[in-house]
Amino acid sequence: MSRKKLIAGNWKMNKTSADGAALARELVLAVGSYSDADIVVCPPFTALESVATAIDGSLIKLGAQNMHFEPSGAFTGEVSAPMLRALFATHVILGHSERRDLFGETDELVNKKVLAAFKNQLRPILCVGESLAEREAGSTLKKVQSQLERDLEGVSRDQAAGLIVAYEPIWAIGTGKVATAEQAQEVHAFIRGLLTKLQGEAAAQRIRILYGGSMKPANAAELLSQKDIDGGLIGGAALEARSFVELVKAAGGKP
Ligand code: PEP
Repeated sequence: MSRKKLIAGNWKMNKTSADGAALARELVLAVGSYSDADIVVCPPFTALESVATAIDGSLIKLGAQNMHFEPSGAFTGEVSAPMLRALFATHVILGHSERRDLFGETDELVNKKVLAAFKNQLRPILCVGESLAEREAGSTLKKVQSQLERDLEGVSRDQAAGLIVAYEPIWAIGTGKVATAEQAQEVHAFIRGLLTKLQGEAAAQRIRILYGGSMKPANAAELLSQKDIDGGLIGGAALEARSFVELVKAAGGKP
């Protein structure tokens, strides 16, 4: 099955509301009507509204970087799925390794967020991946399997068809070290096989599995040519229009 490639930009804790809108306007000019690849930008919460306005009417979609699983309540500092929907977000990154490692997010918590995202018609971009120590110990596939099994507990097959998975080896995030295309494809193929077991063939064939970890215009083409790599989750290279646009065009196969 051919899956349209997707390039998602994770801006992390970068860009004020005004700076985010300026970047989004540049993206709209360059690829706002580009339909050979899907595009999602994920600004910080404080820039969601200005970026939503900037991309309005274009093909670029809006995502958040995190959310709480409850719809409302006494959760100081948190933001809920209905709040994101009200700002026209359609996607949400969940379980990023920075959330897991720096903010103590467990698979149990990520699972609650995944279920809440689906309940609120937000498409989760669920991040999984191993640390350097886990790769060196030969436990990459075991780690990814245990994350996916726990994070997807209770997700129906219909919901799963709308899931996006991002395989992000932690040792490659923001380090300039990129997984080789073969290393990445091996894990992506494993993930597709596991998703087939967990969610059935039809859903597993529809789920896009993105690679994340120092993806840049210089290494994108080789990664994106792999059978089970359906796009990229981009950190550093998403902060400038020029590199992000090049990645989008590499994914679309048409400059
Ligand atoms: C990320 O944090 O999701 C990421 C892939 O970052 P970078 O592209 O900077 O490695």
